[in-house]
Amino acid sequence: MHQAKTTCPYCGVGCGVTATVDDAGTLSAVEGDREHPANFGRLCVKGSALHETLGEQGRLTRPRVDGVEVSWEAALSTIAERLNTLRAEHGNHSVAAYLSGQLLTEDYYVANKLFKGFLGTPHLDTNSRLCMASAVAGYKRAFGADAVPCNYEDLEDAELIVLVGSNLAWNHPVLYQRIKVAKERNPLMRVVVVDPRVTDSCEIADLYLGIKPGSDAVLFNGLLAQMAAKRKLDHIYLERHTQGLDEALSAAQQTAGSVAEVAAACEVDAERLETFYYWFASQLHVVTLYSQGVNQSSSGTDKCNAIINCHLAGGKIGLPGAGPFSITGQPNAMGGREVGGLANQLAAHMDYDTPGAQDLVSRFWATDNLEPSLPNGPGYKAVELFDAIERGEIKALWIMATNPAISLPDTARIRAALEKCPLVIVSECAADTDLLPYADIVLPASGWSEKDGTVTNSERRISRQRGMLPPPGEAKHDWQIICELAKRLGFNEAFDYAHPHEIFDEHARLSGFENSGVTQRLFDISGLVGLGLDGYDALAPIQWPVTAAAPHGTARLFEDGEFATLDGRARLLPITPRGPEKALSEAYPLRLNTGRIRDQWHTMTRTARAPRLMNHRAEPFMEVHPEDAAQAGVNDQALGVLTAATGEYRARVRVSNAQRRGEVFVPIHWTDRFTGNARSSALIERITDPVSGQPEAKHGAVALAPL
Ligand code: SF4
Repeated sequence: MHQAKTTCPYCGVGCGVTATVDDAGTLSAVEGDREHPANFGRLCVKGSALHETLGEQGRLTRPRVDGVEVSWEAALSTIAERLNTLRAEHGNHSVAAYLSGQLLTEDYYVANKLFKGFLGTPHLDTNSRLCMASAVAGYKRAFGADAVPCNYEDLEDAELIVLVGSNLAWNHPVLYQRIKVAKERNPLMRVVVVDPRVTDSCEIADLYLGIKPGSDAVLFNGLLAQMAAKRKLDHIYLERHTQGLDEALSAAQQTAGSVAEVAAACEVDAERLETFYYWFASQLHVVTLYSQGVNQSSSGTDKCNAIINCHLAGGKIGLPGAGPFSITGQPNAMGGREVGGLANQLAAHMDYDTPGAQDLVSRFWATDNLEPSLPNGPGYKAVELFDAIERGEIKALWIMATNPAISLPDTARIRAALEKCPLVIVSECAADTDLLPYADIVLPASGWSEKDGTVTNSERRISRQRGMLPPPGEAKHDWQIICELAKRLGFNEAFDYAHPHEIFDEHARLSGFENSGVTQRLFDISGLVGLGLDGYDALAPIQWPVTAAAPHGTARLFEDGEFATLDGRARLLPITPRGPEKALSEAYPLRLNTGRIRDQWHTMTRTARAPRLMNHRAEPFMEVHPEDAAQAGVNDQALGVLTAATGEYRARVRVSNAQRRGEVFVPIHWTDRFTGNARSSALIERITDPVSGQPEAKHGAVALAPL
């Protein structure tokens, strides 16, 4: 028997896990790692069932080409041949990749390097686009970098925590527990929940604001206006460290109005709203924690900046217990961003418009004398990418560790695009997913407990995932698959890694490469260069930046008031609130909200393997307000159908007073494998935020009827 420390593969909390492998080679138990700073020994129900989701049954074990099992040699040679043909006929930009926040940073790094650096295509995006893109864009606009200022200890040090569009109790349970305990220890701590639905997170709320869906920016513009009216702006901080107050305030005053007007626009009680504004304005140590309820919107980036504006205006940032704090949905959404895994990024937190970035990356990867050269502009973001496939512009797509046939909006259209794509390659762990029928080539990949690498959680903490078990059958690690293909394409030297620690080392070197002067990047982990295998194996969780000046990492950003903009000042942005783009109509009178449930993860490929995780919610459902149910003629526990312009969703009705009148909630997890027709994304249209490209998954328009 032996034990190993690793990291939970589910959510962005990034809990440390101690796993026990028994003498028979079975990973037989898991417990929370008491030394890991994310969770100090806690695990949620999903994390504590990790060992129950393992085993070879249901796993992909051999590569397949055109439905026939083949050797790796044959599969990779076929991919190389078909990619070369398509590139020769249609150009380098005809190939694309769609990655995942489930990948480890090392997998992500080599994929980004191959596609952007050596295949010369900018079209590499990730499912983090569905999760964090608006938060990223909001940070960049305000701070000059995709940089989360806070850490989890700030949640314990805060006097006020504002949860916006986040059911933390279900989606990030260990953080919820940390806040709950901190609140018990400090009775003066207050929690405000801003959410159209009454969720389990309201259990710790001192104040609940059940806002009209999509009215978050009005709420925070109103807050900024009230802070000014009550003389609660921190003018010294604003003067020294920011720009843009006048424009931001003027926009807030013009669009929000009085407290009564904001309350009416957000459909909340004016007295409660005033209390929230008073609490926020009068406390210094405030953390605003936000998640998909803010991000998954056609104005998600603006909503993020409306929140950040209020923190900058009050100087509530860069201090213990203070700051805007986006909580990541996926385990490694942040690691993917670090290597450049978004289509608008190049590498190591450099965008295409970062001065000198192309030349710098080109020299670092030694692609400067290569043909093709690095792309000189951004590629297609997730939804655009599938549009380009539909148009016939993208001819080859490699999908790794994600299932766009379920998770992207308007899945019927996504599936039609995949049917049309001449070459679809899928790297995957599970043998039976809704995506595999669309794949020409299927590659078996290793999974959690088998692969070695790093992930970065919501507080910028890099942690090791450690391999303890051999991959089943002939499955390989994603980084190996990518590198083996790269070598077949002729890029031997650049992809000649023997172990992920060598990839991590290169990633760390690139982060610090010529990183100085006016274009200095905040993401810098050059302090982790040269760890070697032993150092990498022993790497303890650490928060970036990690540099010579900060060898033990950086717990909190912007403590000195210096931001990552060219002039070092943060930006307040003028925000004009916009509601959901899809208007309600007679045909589709109800607002659709989608989200996770407590015990399931994504499309349930892992969590459905643990029977006890099915007990919480055993089947798909739709949650409806009693009056909406009565109006539609559906009863509690009866079967209902939701119809949208793009498709329909059939499931059991749960009538609940926790729902707002006029809004329906459906879970995102169920797929065609489990049920005939309960795919939430079939109801979501291809509407995205113009800045971030994140789909508006929280604001569909549907009709309800009995089945
Ligand atoms: Fe895993 Fe998230 Fe649960 Fe922690 S809170 S155990 S990271 S699912």
